[in-house]
Amino acid sequence: MLPDPRMLPETIEIVEVGPRDGLQNEARPVSTADKLQLIEALIHAGVRRIEATSFVHPARVPQMADAEAVMAGLPRDRSVVVSGLVLNRRGAERAIAAGCDELTYAVVASETFGQRNQGQTTEQGLAVWTEVAALARAAGRRTAVVIVTAFGCPFEGPVDPARVEGIAARALEADPDEIALADTIGVGTPGQVMDLFGRTRAAVSASKTGRARLRAHFHNTRNTGYANAYAALMAGVTVLDSSAGGVGGCPFAPRATGNIATEDLLFMLDGLGVRHGIDRGAVAALDPWLAGVLGHAVPGQLGKTDVWPPRA
Ligand code: MG
Repeated sequence: MLPDPRMLPETIEIVEVGPRDGLQNEARPVSTADKLQLIEALIHAGVRRIEATSFVHPARVPQMADAEAVMAGLPRDRSVVVSGLVLNRRGAERAIAAGCDELTYAVVASETFGQRNQGQTTEQGLAVWTEVAALARAAGRRTAVVIVTAFGCPFEGPVDPARVEGIAARALEADPDEIALADTIGVGTPGQVMDLFGRTRAAVSASKTGRARLRAHFHNTRNTGYANAYAALMAGVTVLDSSAGGVGGCPFAPRATGNIATEDLLFMLDGLGVRHGIDRGAVAALDPWLAGVLGHAVPGQLGKTDVWPPRA
């Protein structure tokens, strides 16, 4: 049976995570100036939400050591929501001081990944999230909580969906603006996406305010990222993360590859008639420059092929 197209949202938001998730694992240092050039080009292409950097310890993720400098160099276009990834209270304080509009906090679904990524248990992660959410709210910033390794852990294997559902319910107690599920290592498949977002949607409905938007973060490690994005839209997700060129990886997830590519995702959304406000051609046009900065080709496909439909 074909899915009912009326289940698709009319409009969604794209969070461009290239400057953070895209670059954090790159071997070659990317200069602050190049990061700012990327961000400005993305804004010019119509991107209105950007995860610009992460406020983590520079010794842990050297590519993000210039977080404050990136924030200081951003164009102050108030129509663009700039978020910073934080993993602890110190990171949250830095993100607020640096002027992030939104703080994104990661709670880890699997204990082993939690220890390696941020040195804490899931329970500790939830406690810190509560503090971070309160800090962000007191400072008038938006909040997003991301459940990472929700679809599988590189060290533990499959993650019990009931566990993810329980973590979502707990995380929602701090009343985030958004709750995201992240397929950190790209092992998810569309049925699992429908199931996990169905559970998360139910958790939102059961939460005190019932207002959190659903957001999805996919990596294309096993080529299911775009199918998963489609499934997520059918499951009620209205915010999707992607990275220009499909660059990315995770320093603490061996052999994980990039996020779904923004330009390739936009091609699918345009075909579906789902509005997003971004010029896909302008994003694809960044690929050669990005490849030059990184010193290797990028995974995004749109920049490698003919413009469609052909120009008259
Ligand atoms: Mg990621």
